[in-house]
Amino acid sequence: MTTPTSDVTSSPDHGPAAGVCWSLADLYAAPDDPRIDTDLEESERAAAAFASRYRGRVASLAAGALAAAVDELEALCEPMSRAAAYAGLLFAADTAAPRHGALLQRVQERSSAIRNQLVFFELEWVAVDDAPAARLLADPALARRRHHLEAMRRYRPHVLSEPEEKLLEETANTGRRAFSRLFDELLGAMRFRLAHAGRVEDLGEEEVLSKLHESDRSLRKAAADALTEGLRASSRTLAFLFNTLVHDKATSDRLRRYADPMHERHLANEIDAASVDALLAACERRYDLVQRFYRLKARLLGIPQLEDHDRYAPLPGDVGQRSFDDARRIVLDAYGDFAPELAAIAGEFFDRRWIDAELRPGKRGGAFCASTTPALHSYVLLNYTGNLRDVMTLAHELGHGVHQQLARPRGLFEQDTPLTTAETASVFGEMLVFRRLMREERDPRVRLALLCGKLEDAFATVFRQVVMTRFEQKLHAARRSEGELPIARVNALWLETNRPMFGDAVRLSDDYGFWWLYIPHFVHTPFYCYAYAFGELLVLALLRRHDEEGAAFVPRYLELLAAGGSEAPPALLAKLGLDITDPAFWDGGLAVLEQMVDEAERTAASIAS
Ligand SMILES: [Zn+2]
Repeated sequence: MTTPTSDVTSSPDHGPAAGVCWSLADLYAAPDDPRIDTDLEESERAAAAFASRYRGRVASLAAGALAAAVDELEALCEPMSRAAAYAGLLFAADTAAPRHGALLQRVQERSSAIRNQLVFFELEWVAVDDAPAARLLADPALARRRHHLEAMRRYRPHVLSEPEEKLLEETANTGRRAFSRLFDELLGAMRFRLAHAGRVEDLGEEEVLSKLHESDRSLRKAAADALTEGLRASSRTLAFLFNTLVHDKATSDRLRRYADPMHERHLANEIDAASVDALLAACERRYDLVQRFYRLKARLLGIPQLEDHDRYAPLPGDVGQRSFDDARRIVLDAYGDFAPELAAIAGEFFDRRWIDAELRPGKRGGAFCASTTPALHSYVLLNYTGNLRDVMTLAHELGHGVHQQLARPRGLFEQDTPLTTAETASVFGEMLVFRRLMREERDPRVRLALLCGKLEDAFATVFRQVVMTRFEQKLHAARRSEGELPIARVNALWLETNRPMFGDAVRLSDDYGFWWLYIPHFVHTPFYCYAYAFGELLVLALLRRHDEEGAAFVPRYLELLAAGGSEAPPALLAKLGLDITDPAFWDGGLAVLEQMVDEAERTAASIAS
């Protein structure tokens, strides 16, 4: 099979991965493929039949019959998931095409109708009293569905009546989900005017963000100004959008009796608040590492006082641009060193065009890996601009890809893990690439640049996410107590949460106050961010296991991935000897980061002398 880059000429506008775009043909032929409606109709018909058979009877089902009902439910959801996955991917690849938005909306509306036919099942199941439910769950006939059914019951105190649930599901399409889509459309269409060296360029979000990684300080400053100005110009609309979503969540939390804005996320993540609090506090205690690092970076760059636009400046030993083919080789080699199976699975993503990497106007920013249905495979989207960070992003998203591929046999309901462990294989993949690059590199200056690059990534994954979580806590609390928030108030919250992390090592301008406005997680998945910190520190702990156990670790790690979401994270990780309920657990990973800062300082000193 040819590589996707081989048959196209590269276009500078589309970046160094020009021509690398995915083929969605495994899902459907085109947005007007009649099979989309056939699939939705099939799910609709089966949902109606399911409801007529089981409505009012869930509590009286014996274990075997309950297991059969879950099997049926899973099977009937598959065609609908395929249509939803296709609509979502099509839209992400080109948010500007009206027919993509229209398809997404149509699929969402029909999926809501299907979910509303089925909501009785979950409501009747969680209404079963604890004692009879426990007896049923202990029955071997339910072994394969035990976790799924047990996990559903954690929402027992928070579900509403069936008519209320249906109402919320339907109105979400013109409420929360509509605002979420509007955010993507606004950001996808937003242009940033970069004025530098007598030239003015009109850039998309990804392009302007990538200029913050340039070595020319005045160019970085110009990019930061362009980003600020673009965000400021849209801030009135975006502030309204955020206020609306934050208020919508407050309403939903009140109706569903969630005492804390994070509570619902913790339940979805199958983690208790105490573990998350311990994680956040442990990271906050080590903000000194961030400051030590940026003081070192200032010395290396020869800048007395780092500004916010200097944070991503490349160091002198940075190797510069990498072609997409290079990135592919680096990632597959690193995966293959660890386990050939991983490289084989990741390689398929390139060979079979499951990756969309080029830059295009209207394409969603950032990167993701989305599973479709267990019968098929996942897709990876990234915006490849060619720097080391993009190579790491490729390793990251392919980590998700191999995780999802390995867990496919678990089926639709248990393939995907909660967010906390969803970042395991992705962050692990990045570490594999980093370690391989370090092993191959002899030049101390390049090694230092690699090490600093990895530290910056790790800090972005750990400390920055802790800051974002604290910011979200403040944002939700302020909206609840103060009403609709003016942009200046939210900007102030953003700055006051960021400043303790940087201390006096990086000066944050007031302009930086606007920089929360483009972060999609706050819109799409409130309180997502702590899962990244969780994932990174967990991976550092897993790497220490690997270093101790050697080859024996590999099959145990692959088993962890293949387990998908079939058990709660603490139980799955206990099998590898990790206790994430221990508040001291997080200090292990933080100690690894400290060693890396030590090493960076030592290497810098040895180069200087
Ligand atoms: Zn990820």
